Amino acid sequence: MDVSIKKSGGQIANAIIIPMIVVVISAVIGIFGLLHWSARLSDENARQSEQTLIAGALQITQNYMVKQQTGVVVWDKAFHIVNEASSDPSWIYSNMTHWLFQTYGFTRSILFDKDYQVQHAYAQNHRFKWLTPQAIDQLKPAIAKVRARYITSFSKTPSGLFRFTPNDIGTRNSIAESGVILLGADPYVFSAAAVMPQIQSISNKRTPPAVLVSMAPLRGEKLKNILEMTGLDSFVLARQQIDREGVGQYLLRSPRGTDVGLIAWHASQPGSQMMNRINPFLALAALMIAAVVIAVVVFTRQMTRRLARSEARAVHTSRHDALSGLPNRSSFHTLLKDALEEGLTEGTGTAVVYIDLDHFKDINDTLGHSAGDKVITAVAQRLRRVLPASGIVARISGDEFAMVLKGCESDEWLDYILDQVQDEIGRPIMIGSRELFASLSMGAAIAPRDGDDPDELLRKADIALYDAKANGRGRRSFFEASMELHVQSKDKLSRELRLALQNDQLDLAFQPQSDSMVKRIVSVEALARWTKEDGTAVSPSLFIPVAEETGLINELGMWVLNKACAKAHEWPGITVSVNVSPNQFKHPRFVEKVMAVLAANSLPPHRLEIEVTESVFAGRNDSVLKALRRLKNLGVKVALDDFGSGYSSLSYLRRFPFDTLKIDRDFVSDMNGNAEAEAILVSIIQLGKALGMTIVAEGIETADQVDFLQSHGCHRLQGYYISKPLSEARLKTFLQDFDPPYQQGLSVTFPARSRAV
Ligand code: C2E
Ligand code: MG
Ligand code: MG
Repeated sequence: MDVSIKKSGGQIANAIIIPMIVVVISAVIGIFGLLHWSARLSDENARQSEQTLIAGALQITQNYMVKQQTGVVVWDKAFHIVNEASSDPSWIYSNMTHWLFQTYGFTRSILFDKDYQVQHAYAQNHRFKWLTPQAIDQLKPAIAKVRARYITSFSKTPSGLFRFTPNDIGTRNSIAESGVILLGADPYVFSAAAVMPQIQSISNKRTPPAVLVSMAPLRGEKLKNILEMTGLDSFVLARQQIDREGVGQYLLRSPRGTDVGLIAWHASQPGSQMMNRINPFLALAALMIAAVVIAVVVFTRQMTRRLARSEARAVHTSRHDALSGLPNRSSFHTLLKDALEEGLTEGTGTAVVYIDLDHFKDINDTLGHSAGDKVITAVAQRLRRVLPASGIVARISGDEFAMVLKGCESDEWLDYILDQVQDEIGRPIMIGSRELFASLSMGAAIAPRDGDDPDELLRKADIALYDAKANGRGRRSFFEASMELHVQSKDKLSRELRLALQNDQLDLAFQPQSDSMVKRIVSVEALARWTKEDGTAVSPSLFIPVAEETGLINELGMWVLNKACAKAHEWPGITVSVNVSPNQFKHPRFVEKVMAVLAANSLPPHRLEIEVTESVFAGRNDSVLKALRRLKNLGVKVALDDFGSGYSSLSYLRRFPFDTLKIDRDFVSDMNGNAEAEAILVSIIQLGKALGMTIVAEGIETADQVDFLQSHGCHRLQGYYISKPLSEARLKTFLQDFDPPYQQGLSVTFPARSRAV
């Protein structure tokens, strides 16, 4: 059971927990991912804005250079000198290139003439060959733009001349382009401006300009300015890209688009900083979530396991009997069905055994329900112990059990097992200090011989049990087809008996009992008779057990008692014996009813004798003994009937002071010439006499029996030899015929055998 609980608990837990863990982990990963993504985004934004900042600062620096250069390039004099056929290099040096160095720190300058040739080059502290075709090539696009803008600044006059009218000539702005180029290993910021007149000029053709390119190294002063403008940290110029986290980079490109180098700085990375700050909290949150998840997992597992356990318990309870712990009726049915299918596939027999605990009601009534419960528990334990491992035992109802025995080989095999069951149950059961002896009646049906349907087999096992009980307790029967007929006829019989009672179709016969010495009829035994409407007589040994089983015995018994007491007046001085079954004593007011009948018929109690059999002691039914004692105290005589027929125990004689002991007719019939039987008979007579009882011998059929019993002092005789049971009318005649010779003679001459009724 435990394994299945774990399994189903685990399954339920997995069904809940796994999706839950997946959802939680996904949510945590999602949140963490989102945070990291937005941090990266914010880093990227910061980097971009820092790049924009640098681009702006660089542009400002370039614009400023353009402005500084303006004084030299927008100058009539310079325009004329530069464009003269034989320009003066020293003038250009001192007024333009060197002046620009001295004033603004332009360390290098190149003057391109209108034909795009290097007219003049200036370098301060040059340690390398800087004026290379590559350097000029980098500048080309900027110079081309300046030349183009310059040319397009000419407008044609109506006279066909060209007027040089740059848009903002009045504000002394130059036509310039600026940018960065690589000279040697260093980036230089440059401003390339057309050398142009200060005032509007008119010429007959559009002449391209001379262009002065003035440069200053980016490293040093300029870079410092840019750093101050941007306010960024750890500014450096680098040649190669830096693959490092947290380094911002701004690529410098020449107008030609070639790589000039880059400005690197320590990127501010607000996202990463934020992440660094919140990472410990995130870790803590992750830990807490993990702890919560683990707690939830553990809790859910426990809950589901508990749930599964209580579910299993509920299932177990619904399938088992609470007292004995055995499977109950409904689960037995399922187990039986499975066992039958198994037997069918394996080709083996399966026995179904119904078990009834004998006289369990008596145990409950006399010793109380807790004692009854203890007996049930003990029997259940013993059945389980004695059963083969593959066997099944269940509690069907109060005192009913059922077993399934798989692999039933033969009737002998089953007999052997049931012997063991009976032996085990037969051992004393201790209830407190009391020893109880339980016995079982068992009925068995075997598949496939008696059928293979569970219901059919159970019904047949029940019929067999019924048969076992009918043959006396502590027995067992295997189902036979004839039993079914028997049960059916019993059902019919009980219905007919009920009708016969209602329609007053029963009658009484009276069998006289004679005193063995005085030769006088001293008593008559009332015996119930039933003749059906079709004339068939039904024997009391058939219908009395049926009446007992159906409870009709109470009604029938009272009818007999009433009628016997009513008739007793017709035979003054003679006792009337009435048979009373143990079940009649179960009626709580039985004694009161007897008293009422005696009173109603004005019959003195000593004229009535109650006959009970030994079965009255079964189950130590104290309430029956109590009722018998009350009757005896009232003066009613009590006889022990059929002594020696059942499990005779002399202890019965000590437990209740019977007035009369009726020796069973089997002892008398066994007697003829059998020394052992005679010895037993004699000792019973002596024992009874020693206990002060009147001894009656039943079933006297021969004169020899009369002689023997007379000679051993048996008090009374009853049997066909004296008289068969007689009808009321015939008894009257019999008594008249019988009495006279008895009162005088010593010799015994009994009348001719009378006809039985
Ligand atoms: P029982 O009380 O032992 O009654 C004696 C039985 O022995 C009677 O059978 C009777 O006919 C028979 N009998 C008497 N003398 C002889 C004989 O010499 N030879 C043979 N073979 N039989 C003899 P019956 O009338 O068939 O009754 C059978 C049993 O039915 C009775 O046995 C008694 O236990 C029960 N019974 C009869 N009437 C009643 C009744 O009204 N109430 C109850 N509770 N049981 C009754
Ligand atoms: Mg009797
Ligand atoms: Mg008898």
